[in-house]
Amino acid sequence: MTTAVVVGGGPNGLAAAITLAREGVSVTLLEAADEIGGGTRSGEAILPGLLHDHCSAIHPMAVGSTFLQSLDLGRYGLQWKLPEIDCAHPLDDGTAGVLHRCVAETAAGLGPDGRRWTRLFARPVEAYDELAEDILGPLLRIPRHPLLLARFGLPAVLPATVLAKTFAGEQARALFAGVAAHAFHPLHRPFSSSIGLGILTAGHRHGWAVAAGGSQSITDAMAALLLDLGGTIQTGARVRSHRQLPPADIVIYDLTPTAVAEILGDRLPAHVAQAYRRFRYGPGAFKVDFAVEDGVPWTAETARRAGTVHLGGALAEIAESERQIHAGRMPERPFVLVGQQYLADPQRSVGNVHPVWTYAHVPNGYTGDATEAIIAQIERFAPGFRDRMVGTAVRTTPAFAAYNPNYVGGNIMTGSKHLSQLLFGPRPTLNPYDVGLPGHFICSAATPPGPGAHGMCGAHAAQRALRHLAHH
Ligand SMILES: Cc1cc2nc3c(=O)[nH]c(=O)nc-3n(C[C@H](O)[C@H](O)[C@H](O)COP(=O)(O)OP(=O)(O)OC[C@H]3O[C@@H](n4cnc5c(N)ncnc54)[C@H](O)[C@@H]3O)c2cc1C
Repeated sequence: MTTAVVVGGGPNGLAAAITLAREGVSVTLLEAADEIGGGTRSGEAILPGLLHDHCSAIHPMAVGSTFLQSLDLGRYGLQWKLPEIDCAHPLDDGTAGVLHRCVAETAAGLGPDGRRWTRLFARPVEAYDELAEDILGPLLRIPRHPLLLARFGLPAVLPATVLAKTFAGEQARALFAGVAAHAFHPLHRPFSSSIGLGILTAGHRHGWAVAAGGSQSITDAMAALLLDLGGTIQTGARVRSHRQLPPADIVIYDLTPTAVAEILGDRLPAHVAQAYRRFRYGPGAFKVDFAVEDGVPWTAETARRAGTVHLGGALAEIAESERQIHAGRMPERPFVLVGQQYLADPQRSVGNVHPVWTYAHVPNGYTGDATEAIIAQIERFAPGFRDRMVGTAVRTTPAFAAYNPNYVGGNIMTGSKHLSQLLFGPRPTLNPYDVGLPGHFICSAATPPGPGAHGMCGAHAAQRALRHLAHH
């Protein structure tokens, strides 16, 4: 029987393992932590019964993932829930840029910028299901829908600051910039619009969904399917060298390129080892979960109904704070993402105490404490928040790196999104999942299409492995 080992049990490792097991391969998944899930785990942290997402929380990319859709994970309990408003971006004057699932509704709230928002998103959203195969795969291959992709891709070339300035009002500018900032990449650089455009298009098509019962439900459903397909999962198994690996026809690494270089050592071709060792990591995250009595008292009423709230003020301020973290400096007012998943999924709350998920963008390897900076950003747009705080749970930037070795220096994106890594992934090649050693592949979020709990990197890497098996 054909055998495979998958190292790392994040959504991409699970996706790779499932793809192989579905084709009859006997798969063993080795996970370093005591539990699988990587960036897709949830649990209690402050009060009994109060449910927090430890990492990923909001899932426009996972709901829109053609791979996850093909698994029909509803059979294993995965259920998506949508907030009333996808995302709000409050400003100091009490107004907010508001993102609805529906393009027309979003446009209606953006005044004179509504027409431009519609022009930018209506067609790509209509075509999303056709485009998804192209967007959610390696960018450098022959696209299935070249004209559609070109239409979508042209604005993606622009720096996010330039694209944002095609809107006249601050609400639309900031709304776009806040989503573009998800890339953890300076907004004045070329292509810094691309990740934001991808998230916004997927979100307009599928909504900024949360998983009922926490993102852990994605992991649990994928693991249950893998076990049903005959796969084996071993936790507490950190792989440091290829000598630890059981014999197998295929090995797929849900790891950073740096870790793959360490594990395979001089078995890797020199040019791959060199590229993997030079792989760059972007800025870090500093996370604070809150238990909040009666929710956050946002000044902007729309933010009280939004699953996600972006805090960073106007376009110029976000661009500047992103520039600073990229240069290794901690801004006084960092960009902060706030998740209010409980609005769509009320079972996460205990009575009138609600779990509020936040993290700030900070420099890679940041050793300071950003808790106060995060609280100050919330208080700025929701005076009185401090009085509603019942408890906090903090995960510092170094703690992220310890929690999951894929987050080098606290970089939760598993790699910087500068142009070459954005286009190619770990090294310049048309086969980003190949590590240059027959039978060995890489499938983490460092590979295309990049971060998110969509499992597409794992599915593509496993398809590549299956083609390798077919030829050997
Ligand atoms: C705070 C935070 C917020 C996020 N928010 C979102 C969000 O809202 N929406 C979204 O789509 N995405 C979000 N993400 C990103 C998303 O979680 C990741 O992109 C996704 O989990 C990547 O999946 P992966 O399988 O590539 O790697 P990971 O999920 O990082 O999994 C890698 C696994 O490999 C294991 N491992 C590492 N080294 C070894 C080793 N040597 N041996 C064995 N096992 C090893 C790790 O323990 C881990 O379980 C967020 C991430 C974080 C941390």
